[in-house]
Amino acid sequence: MEKLIYLDNAATTKTAPEVVEAMLPYFTEKFGNPSSVYSFASGNKDVITKQREIIADALGAKANEIYFTAGGSESDNWALKAAADAYKDKGNHIITTKIEHHAILHTGEYLERHGFEVTYLDVDENGVVKLDELKAAIRPETILISVMFANNEIGTIQPVKEIGEIAREHGILFHTDAVQAFGQVPMDVDECYIDMLSASGHKLNGPKGIGFLYIRKGVKIRSFVHGGAQERKRRAGTENVPGIVGLGTAVSRAVRTMEERTAKEIELRDYLIDRVMNEIPYTKLNGHKEKRLPNNANFSFRFIEGEALLIKLDMKGICGSSGSACTSGSLDPSHVLLAIGLPHEIAHGSLRLTLNEEITKEDIDYVTDSLKEIVAELRSMSPLYEDFKKAEERAQ
Ligand SMILES: *Cc1c(COP(=O)(O)O)cnc(C)c1O
Repeated sequence: MEKLIYLDNAATTKTAPEVVEAMLPYFTEKFGNPSSVYSFASGNKDVITKQREIIADALGAKANEIYFTAGGSESDNWALKAAADAYKDKGNHIITTKIEHHAILHTGEYLERHGFEVTYLDVDENGVVKLDELKAAIRPETILISVMFANNEIGTIQPVKEIGEIAREHGILFHTDAVQAFGQVPMDVDECYIDMLSASGHKLNGPKGIGFLYIRKGVKIRSFVHGGAQERKRRAGTENVPGIVGLGTAVSRAVRTMEERTAKEIELRDYLIDRVMNEIPYTKLNGHKEKRLPNNANFSFRFIEGEALLIKLDMKGICGSSGSACTSGSLDPSHVLLAIGLPHEIAHGSLRLTLNEEITKEDIDYVTDSLKEIVAELRSMSPLYEDFKKAEERAQ
């Protein structure tokens, strides 16, 4: 096979072999419907309970507070829509941020069309929510605060505990989209006053199409899918048993390997950041320097188009992701990069590289050498860069 260096682990991850192995019997000999009476199938009910316990343990939660969903997007939709519906008699105001995933932002817009008011908080230049602005946004009719645990583009980790404290003091529900952070950063729902938390299997070496929503006992919540009695009657549908087993296995693996895995990723991430920042001029690191996900690096290269960079990297077998959204049919750069104050033209030249535990120092050297070469080549073709260099010479 051609060389392939996969640095897009924020988009999705490879399903770990032990996860696939654990799932396989549930497609074949253990295919029974957990709701069936005969023991051959009903045994799968206990298997599901076991996975709920594994996940709950990873969060400091209880097994009956874990609800399986079809992934992060569904969990986010459920948390916002159901809380809005269940608490609408108390108020119609929701607070979130400008840097959330679209699963939150677009759900917020949907709720705005249905009589709710949503405040989208600004963030600072590192992508951190400002706590004084959060406090100032709270109104008597605020029913929910939803702030992501860590950002999927720039990797910034939020002061989740402080946000949870503020929510709790004001008697407001706190939801966090932890899809990127869960499995990379230790977390405890009680310590951080989290009432609801979204996570997804495929972002932590589990399968796609499975995730969960943690809902604290006592939180009023509406059913998301109506039908059978699955998930305590809150989310009907025959359970995705292989997916649930895959998710549970991925979570226990993530917990078991977290310390060693993230230490290695942090070392290589910082090596990558140092090399790029030192060796490629007119480059900016996006996101917080320390409070960032162990595997995330995000750069803006001036005078460069992110899309062109991605194509050239692809030709060298390197998979990354760009901060511009041209691929999704929009010419606007990422809402996250704009929210941290990047001008359009700089946001357009952005590159996100997200590591995994298989990446080596040699890979990082190859990637950095390739980047240097590609950035120089693209700049040499850029009229903007030419003008900039001429102006610089004149100024000297
Ligand atoms: C990937 C992602 C989601 C969506 O999860 P899916 O399982 O793909 O639906 C939501 N939020 C964040 C922060 C993500 O990174």
